[in-house]
Amino acid sequence: MSIRTEKSKEPPNRLPASPRRGVVQDLIPLRSRRSGPEGDAGPDPSAGGKIIMKFGGSSVADAGCMREVAALVTAALPRSPLVVLSATAGTTDSLLAAARLAEQGDRDGALLIGRELQSRHRGIAGELFPGGLPGELDQALTAMDAELDLLLRGVAMLRELSPRSLDAIASIGERLSTRILAAFMQADWVDARTVVRTDDGFGSALPLFQELSALAARDLAPLLGPGRAVVTQGFIGATAGGVTTTLGRGGSDFSAALFGAALGVADIQIWTDVEGVLTCDPRVVRAAQPIAELSFKEAGELAAFGAKVLHPATIKPAMEAGIPVTVRSTRQPNGRFTTITAQVRTGRPITALAGRGPVTLVTLTCADMHTQSGFLAMGSLFQVLSRHRIGVDLIATAEDSVSFTVEAGLPLEALLKDLEGFGAVGVARDRTIVAVVGERLKLTPGVTGRCFGALREINVEMISMGANEINLSFVVRREDATAALVALHGALIESPMREDGRSAGGLSHAERRRGTNIVQFG
Ligand code: ASP
Ligand code: MG
Repeated sequence: MSIRTEKSKEPPNRLPASPRRGVVQDLIPLRSRRSGPEGDAGPDPSAGGKIIMKFGGSSVADAGCMREVAALVTAALPRSPLVVLSATAGTTDSLLAAARLAEQGDRDGALLIGRELQSRHRGIAGELFPGGLPGELDQALTAMDAELDLLLRGVAMLRELSPRSLDAIASIGERLSTRILAAFMQADWVDARTVVRTDDGFGSALPLFQELSALAARDLAPLLGPGRAVVTQGFIGATAGGVTTTLGRGGSDFSAALFGAALGVADIQIWTDVEGVLTCDPRVVRAAQPIAELSFKEAGELAAFGAKVLHPATIKPAMEAGIPVTVRSTRQPNGRFTTITAQVRTGRPITALAGRGPVTLVTLTCADMHTQSGFLAMGSLFQVLSRHRIGVDLIATAEDSVSFTVEAGLPLEALLKDLEGFGAVGVARDRTIVAVVGERLKLTPGVTGRCFGALREINVEMISMGANEINLSFVVRREDATAALVALHGALIESPMREDGRSAGGLSHAERRRGTNIVQFG
């Protein structure tokens, strides 16, 4: 038997950093544009429906980037864009660092970071307005400088930094970037805190969608219209009492989806530094290619298993509202992009690969696992795991053992001690989960055979087919992960399979047979 637990929903504040600018473009040759109703590249001014255009920190890193963003938004003006911005690259990190210094009592160090941020933003604004800043922008920047100064002094004086204070400080980043872009584009600027109503879970607040929608309908929708852009912040919100909150690190994508769902737009565009979602991390597999269409479920699996573009929590509001999310590149706005929708229509069995590690593989062996007392042991196992607050990614059971993977770096000692009460405990550290993801995986014969063929030189320590049957995962040693991903990518994606399981050359009978069982090595 092989089962897999639903990947616990991680808050967006555990998102990994987005891939470095430029890396992907160096590796992927620009192919000809796709064409047809879903393949038109770039913001198509003639296509109908309102849009959200979300730009991440690297897309607004400097004045040049801001100009590019402004040009993209201008081209999309007929579609009444709502522009959702992140803080400029590195700014949120700097704000958090300043807050920590203040907490440690290093007031001057904290204030120095604040001054650097102010001068960097004034530098960007100065380049965009060589003749001098418009008065309103100048005042807004000065006011935020004073606000940050005050907040940091307060934290330093008390040497106390609550999540609430941290959110107030972090919110400055998005407010700065959006002020500059809105002034440059002469667009309306909306304070997202007046719309994004959240609970008071500071640091990773939960949006209150009904209230958010009502506020968006009342205050935001009337500002939107063809020929105009409205600029607002990602990441930040406020409680009913008006206290500033944030949605967690990397939360701007989530904001974009929330705004999009609340306003019922036609498309939520996530502009980033890669040409959409790729079939694998291009730093690991050079032949990685952008995926034209991805289902929400696949995107969720990929994000949970290490892909770096979108997080499942991020796209949930869009999924629920049935709004497609497109992931596009600011570097190559007319290049390829990925459309994420509820349903994919490509018929392709394997969509992408992801790798996540390091993880630790724990194997518990005890006699009679499947007798009644064995089932009780399973129950106790889950109780022990939950008592230690240890989340499990993959689980597989055999006659006398159960194996599961946990995030490396968790304090496992106490857990392992408790588990020893059940039987022999084996621990294998430095493992990587390699996930093969595809909506039609389960319908395609021969996929597992191909996987085994590709992995024949690699020692696979555990295999698990996700309960949702769109994810086939292998646990390998960390040092084998790259070879595993390269081999799987070659076998499953570079030589595409048809839905009947055949490639151009077809699969051998032996290959097919090898693919019929999902086995598990404890
Ligand atoms: N600026 C925030 C962060 O760096 C939110 C985001 O960029 O999505 O986490
Ligand atoms: Mg981001």
